[in-house]
Amino acid sequence: MTTDIDDLMKKLVSLCKRRGFVFQSGEIYGGLQSSWDYGPLGVELKRNIEAGWWDFMVSTRPDVVGMDSAIITHPDVWKASGHLQHFHDPMVDCMKCKSRFRQDHVEGETCPECGGELTEPRDFGLMFKTSMGALEDDSATVYLRPETCQPIFVNFSNIVTATRQKLPFGIAQTGKAFRNEITARNFIFRSREFEQMEMEFFCRPEEAGRWFDYWVEQRLQWYRGLGIRSGNLRTRKHDESELAHYADSCVDIEYTFPFVTGGWGELEGIANRTDFDLKAQMEMSGQDLSFQDQAGNQKIVPWVIETSGGIGRTMLAVLLDAYREETVEGRERVVLGLHRDLAPIKVAVLPLSRKLDDRAEEVFRMVSPHLPSQFDVTGSIGKRYRRMDEAGTPFCVTFDFDSLEDRKVTVRERDSLGQIRTPIETLVDTLKDILASGWPDECGGA
Ligand code: ATP
Repeated sequence: MTTDIDDLMKKLVSLCKRRGFVFQSGEIYGGLQSSWDYGPLGVELKRNIEAGWWDFMVSTRPDVVGMDSAIITHPDVWKASGHLQHFHDPMVDCMKCKSRFRQDHVEGETCPECGGELTEPRDFGLMFKTSMGALEDDSATVYLRPETCQPIFVNFSNIVTATRQKLPFGIAQTGKAFRNEITARNFIFRSREFEQMEMEFFCRPEEAGRWFDYWVEQRLQWYRGLGIRSGNLRTRKHDESELAHYADSCVDIEYTFPFVTGGWGELEGIANRTDFDLKAQMEMSGQDLSFQDQAGNQKIVPWVIETSGGIGRTMLAVLLDAYREETVEGRERVVLGLHRDLAPIKVAVLPLSRKLDDRAEEVFRMVSPHLPSQFDVTGSIGKRYRRMDEAGTPFCVTFDFDSLEDRKVTVRERDSLGQIRTPIETLVDTLKDILASGWPDECGGA
């Protein structure tokens, strides 16, 4: 039976393919399960999310610096962090229908799919292993990082020495992480190769509680700033039994992902990781990763507040939140009401008739060095508007026959459908103004 939820996800997945946001990886060979390629619009949206995060977390703050670590990591990093011991889930297989489940997701000893008998639980390693160099023996084994945060701890002393940061301060990085998830599903919500945005904030132990509350608030504010409706976001504190072995406290920021049982799914975790990671890496490496406090002339192993989110999950939340179907002037349209800062294309330049292509292209060439733009000549003007609505493009600029005479074009706004007629000469400034401060009410709309 098709439910509304299935329907919404199907429609979104189909739009993502149609408009070039996300494709199934290896599709021409039948597809590689839960592996996704980002198309021309998807890569722009993903980059806009990442750039916005970097701006909010790093560029605009004196107390956070960035880094970019290698993906292939020294195995001892993961021994010290506990990943090699703890990073696996016990699994059971159905002997009849061959379905596989996480043991903690199954009640009783029979298969939830077919009632068949289940195997004994078996461990399933979640880290991707590979070999470095020509030999493939155990000494050559290395791992693709399953998270971006451990390389931050390992580089703690390098960064303190290089930047002379004083406590409290943060180190941030974004990038790929790899987990051989057993149940990777729900489009880009859970995949085996994904991108994280993480920040580790180092502080004095006695100040960790205050910084924890501060970062929960900051992170929530960031998600709201992406235009995600407040009612679709919430925070959830982990109770004792849920806490990871290293965490003192943890709050998840959740979104109303329609496919998650109970309605809410994790977007990001904010955790007080205490001094667990620095101490563990110190013990394994024998190196001193403490912070030398000049003022108090003492050595401190700082406590750490971590903010850890996913780019793909954020992108899915943004797309779900922005997707809408509506009827305007008797015609149906699908709109991605993306926040202007996130929209992959900010401006589409459209000649009303093929006869105007050359003159309209001059307008496109004027706008494109300043704003991400697209020039679209194929199909009726109505069809081109619909395509841009689906791509989430906030403004369409139409060049018509009058434009030849009055040197003006029409700017149409995606959501209100309001229009203004504006001189070509000042078009770039006009577009920059309305992108920065919004569509003026007096310009009207539906
Ligand atoms: P979950 O409980 O959903 O598996 P987690 O608690 O294991 O998530 P973390 O290890 O805290 O996740 O990772 C931080 C963030 O990285 C998550 O909030 C999520 O946004 C993202 N993330 C984690 N695993 C995946 C995955 N397999 N696919 C896509 N994003 C992921």
